[in-house]
Amino acid sequence: MRLKIAAGNWKMNKDYQEGLELVSEIVQKSKPATGTLVILATPYIHLKDAINIAKTTSHVKIAAQNCHQAKNGAYTGETSIGMLSSIGVEYVLIGHSERRQYFRESNELLAEKVKAALSENITPIFCCGESLEIRNEGWHVRYVKNQLKKSLFDLSEEDFKKIIIAYEPIWAIGTGVTASAQQAQEIHKEIREAIAEKYGNIIAENTTVLYGGSVKPANAEELFSQKDVDGGLVGGASLKAETFLPIIEALPTTHS
Ligand code: PEP
Repeated sequence: MRLKIAAGNWKMNKDYQEGLELVSEIVQKSKPATGTLVILATPYIHLKDAINIAKTTSHVKIAAQNCHQAKNGAYTGETSIGMLSSIGVEYVLIGHSERRQYFRESNELLAEKVKAALSENITPIFCCGESLEIRNEGWHVRYVKNQLKKSLFDLSEEDFKKIIIAYEPIWAIGTGVTASAQQAQEIHKEIREAIAEKYGNIIAENTTVLYGGSVKPANAEELFSQKDVDGGLVGGASLKAETFLPIIEALPTTHS
């Protein structure tokens, strides 16, 4: 059975105190459910203490929002995967559309980051998704498949099995516009088929594919009930326990 995940991406929000308060509240108020996981992608300043708070549960994990691909060196302002590993980080977002857009991260660079993360046993949550222009032109499926091919499909089967994918249409991120449940299901199915073509049905069936883009309490259940949608990567609604907890509760606990 695939793991169902509610992942929060705080982006560049929350000062130190506010962040730790939110982690504590999520840890205390979220209920562990079979086959589900909660992941909080916090800014770097929170990671170590957030990990210590989350350690008191088995169902809440902490992720970094980015990493550098090199082991170390003269990269002022950057953080390596080895550094993240040294404080116990287990997950990292790679290829969020904001990193692709504002920091010009290419598919090729993201492939290097994915490999760096796997080399330290940190699980990449690999983000992909198309712009509104591409969606309107009707080649979004080809575009997303190409992102997967360029950044992930060089991995060995063993390594690919460790990847979590987050499909996030750029037109739905932070805009309040959500892909309909049908639109999400349609492309998640295509993603799973592309994985099956490359790595076979068993690996495809076991790969967790999250949906991201204006997920909120009102739409989470419908989105998460789609056959190929295994939970969500949530931005704005993950910044408050009152909006993130119902999203966590919307995760299905049984379907495979
Ligand atoms: C995100 O940041 O990955 C995201 C999906 O944001 P939002 O939920 O605010 O659209």
